[in-house]
Amino acid sequence: MLEVHVLASGSDGNCTVIEFDDTAIMIDSGLSYAKTHKLMELEGIDESKICALLLTHEHSDHVGGAGPVARKLNVPIFCNPATFDSFNHGKVEYCMTQTMQRFNIGDFNILPLPTMHDAVDPNAYSVNVGGKNILIATDTGVFTFPIRQALEDPDFAIVAANYDIRMLREGPYPEATKKRIESNIGHMGNVDSAKEIKNTAVKENRQIFLGHLSKHNNTPDIARDTVAQITGIKRYKLDCLEFMGDTRTITVSR
Ligand SMILES: [Zn+2]
Ligand SMILES: [Zn+2]
Repeated sequence: MLEVHVLASGSDGNCTVIEFDDTAIMIDSGLSYAKTHKLMELEGIDESKICALLLTHEHSDHVGGAGPVARKLNVPIFCNPATFDSFNHGKVEYCMTQTMQRFNIGDFNILPLPTMHDAVDPNAYSVNVGGKNILIATDTGVFTFPIRQALEDPDFAIVAANYDIRMLREGPYPEATKKRIESNIGHMGNVDSAKEIKNTAVKENRQIFLGHLSKHNNTPDIARDTVAQITGIKRYKLDCLEFMGDTRTITVSR
């Protein structure tokens, strides 16, 4: 059984657990250990199954809990050296990865993909496990070529849909922040993501999950509507977290 647990997705914290039979990996740890522990309990995740913590980049919504969580779970942190050196993790076991170099953790075969984001060496992850492909691609201003390739054939993909362009432009953020978010090294808007999803539709039945929605510049309804309209994917098939503290467990099958 292959399950993806989205425990948090957005600027208040990011944490995803991919569970396959007896093992699991965690991707990003932006919440405290106490919060992470509680959410794992709610989602029925057996903490002892987790054998690694992978990090995408050093922004605090992704690594805010990484040190304590890695120590409590007694698992190594996997990320590239630039990322590892650029946040405060305390004493942890470290396994070095490199962007675009595959590595294995048990049954998981993982490829870190380059993203375009204002971080030192940010990654998306393509995870192959149990004969399925899972893509986690948020926090990128544009989709790089390797992400586009990975988006062609995932069984399940978490794709960033950070903002609605009108809400962002008319919203409360300072001009400089708005520019940064819209830039090539900021975030993907609903329309950007929808176009990418549409343009890479090689196989039917990709399960798409919209991730990292901004709570100020987007709503679940607007994100789903926009992506559904542009891609032609049925609205009910586009899932995302609905509110602060919402979580989701997705069984990956095709
Ligand atoms: Zn983020
Ligand atoms: Zn970020």
